[in-house]
This record gives sequence, structure tokens and C-alpha cells, in this order.
Amino acid sequence: MFNYIIVGAGFAGSVIAERLASQKKEKVLIIEKHNHIGGHCFDYKDENNIIVHKYGPHLFHTNNKKVFEYLSQFTEWDIYNHEVLAYIDGKKVPLPFNLNTLYELFPVSLANKYEQKLLEKYKLNTKVPILELKQSEDKDLKYLADYIYEKVFLNYTAKQWDKTPEEIDSFVTARVPLFIGKDNRYFNDIYQVVPRHGYTRLFENMLNNPNIKLMLNTNFKEVATIKNDQIYVLGHKFNGIIIYTGCVDELFDYQFGELRYRSVHMKFETIQKEWYQEKATVNYPNSYNFTRITEFKHIHFCESKNTTILKEYPMDYIRGKNDPYYPVFTEENQKKYQKYVDYAKRFPNIKLVGRLAEYKYYDMDDIVERALEVAEKEL
Ligand code: UDP
Repeated sequence: MFNYIIVGAGFAGSVIAERLASQKKEKVLIIEKHNHIGGHCFDYKDENNIIVHKYGPHLFHTNNKKVFEYLSQFTEWDIYNHEVLAYIDGKKVPLPFNLNTLYELFPVSLANKYEQKLLEKYKLNTKVPILELKQSEDKDLKYLADYIYEKVFLNYTAKQWDKTPEEIDSFVTARVPLFIGKDNRYFNDIYQVVPRHGYTRLFENMLNNPNIKLMLNTNFKEVATIKNDQIYVLGHKFNGIIIYTGCVDELFDYQFGELRYRSVHMKFETIQKEWYQEKATVNYPNSYNFTRITEFKHIHFCESKNTTILKEYPMDYIRGKNDPYYPVFTEENQKKYQKYVDYAKRFPNIKLVGRLAEYKYYDMDDIVERALEVAEKEL
């Protein structure tokens, strides 16, 4: 009945399903293990009438016009420029660490000196990863780098990854580089928006096509088996194409060992006042067990006498106990992942797409771009 089975209804699976169903008029079956669509972008209106993101804050930002226009078919947007503060030495200061942050943390004369030194070495409005700044030979810049490393990165990364910044791939901490400028926004992309009625509505609109059938609450491996390099779905040989967006080790029965992922426990709280904090997110690198607090009213504004906050407690992913959120970017894990990729070559009709299946730190726009590319090949 179906030429395509798509495993997972997050951005990767939903974009491909939408393209195949609308452009190729293919009948597509989506199999999703959760009881909802949208993957980790899933959101809902909570008891305070506030849209909250069940799996942590999702801020859409991109320079990719094609991706933005594609998604604009399925939602109206509200402009939203995300700002983050970091709680350091008893003060809430702008993050990414920028020239304004210097003046909040150091006496003016010292901040001025650091600013001059940074501007001598780097161009205005450029970004410098902390691990790069730490290589500075100038003793003032080296001192500054060590300070930022310790106050912003070391303990946050320990909480988030259970590792030091050196133990994970350097691109991870480079996602939040030092910004040699005075723009306090977390991202600098041209498009910074959130779906007006939330991500779930966007996904509903995307999947609202009679060619798309959706099976929720279903783990793919409960309905599919792989025997002698042949895939069986509900006991029948399946010779169509499978777009698989789940954990690749699970797909292949953990034969090369389990891949490591990090998970996060999300703790929502209602606060009996109109506002809780100054900006949508405040990071706590050095205090508490959670990494950050997000107040959703800043992201999706609504009139409400209460407010909802979210504290994020990172932890290891344990199969059957919690959800995988982030691949753990170490060399050892990449090697193990590569074994699965090599093995997957036996199955030319299985395509691995997405954060979990490709073991990559995709942002939302990146995965939409990748999914559009995969879909275009199929078209
Ligand atoms: N990071 C940090 N301190 C912070 C913010 C980020 O050390 O205050 C590091 C940490 O290793 C984190 C990475 O930078 O995992 C990427 O942060 P980002 O905000 O992009 O993480 P996400 O929102 O994807 O969880």
C-alpha cells in the first residue's frame, strides 16, 4: 500500500513526508513512537494558556531563505529575537559573551582595555570560539579567555555533557562563541521567528494531506524486523523506501554496541506572578543542577496572570527510561556510529536522516534543509 515508510514525525520525517505526499502524490506511512507529532519541537498550551515547548526551548533562526519560505507555507510567524543572560558572579549578563558583557563584569578601565585588545586582534562583529581565544599569546587576552572559560563554559559543559569542553568536539562550544560586538542577541541570523500558533500547529498543517497516514504510539522495531538483510513490516516483506530518523543503533539491534546520547529532564513550574525573569532564558553555568531556566511568555507572548518556567536537568540517555536529545560528540562515539553507517550500506532502501539517525547536532533550519534535499532526490 505504501512505497514509503517514514520513521519519526519530527522535522526530518515530516518535511520528507510532506514533499513526497504533495509533490509526488505518494502514499506515505509515518510511524512515530510518541503520542504526538513534531518530534522534540512539540509544543502545547499549558494550564496558564501559555505555549510551552515540551522538550525545551526551540528558537527558529536561519539565513536560509529557501527553508524559511518553505516553512512559511505552513505557519504565520512572529518575529522573535532570542536573548540569553548568564548568571555569573551574582549578575545576569548578556550571553554570548560580548563587549557589553565585559562592561557588566569588569571595572570600566579593565573592560576598556580588554575591548581594545580584542578589537586590535579581531574585526568588529565577528565571532571567536572560546577554545580559540584560550590560545591567545597576549597575557590579558589569555586571562580574559580563562575567565570566560571558567565562568561560562567549564561547569555548564560538565552539567550538559558530563565532560570538559576539550573532551567534546570543539564545534559544540563554538556554537556560543565570544561575540566581538554589542549585539546582545543569541543569534545573528536574518530570520529569527517563532510560529505564531506554535510548532505543533505548523506540523499539523504540514502533515494535513490525505496521502499521509500516521501511526502514533508505535515503536518501529515493534512492527518491523530485519532478517537476512530483508526488512519485514507487520510480517510482510517491505521493498519500498524507509526514511529512518530514529537512533540508528536501535534500528540495527545494537550490534556494534549502544551509541551514547544525552537526555534532559524537563521540569515545568507555574509561578504565581506575571513575569519571572528579564529574558526568555537565563543560563546558570555555575549554580544549581539545572543548566538554564526558560520563561515561555517571552517567546510566545500571551496575557496571563501567571507565568510558566522550565528548568533543564541534563542526564545520560537510558534506553526505555528517557528520550535521547543530543548525540555525544566524541571521537569514540563517531567511530562507533561509522560502523552503523557502513552496515547500513547493505540496505540501500533505508535512508538515515536527522539528529539521531545521522548522529549530528542539526539545528531546525539545517534539518529542514537536509530533509528538502533528501526529498528532492526522491522526486
Ligand atoms: N555552553 C556553555 N555555557 C553556556 C552556554 C553554552 O558552556 O552558558 C556550551 C555547552 O557545552 C553547550 C554548548 O555550548 O552544550 C552549546 O550551547 P547551545 O546553547 O547551543 O545548546 P542547545 O541550546 O543546543 O542545548
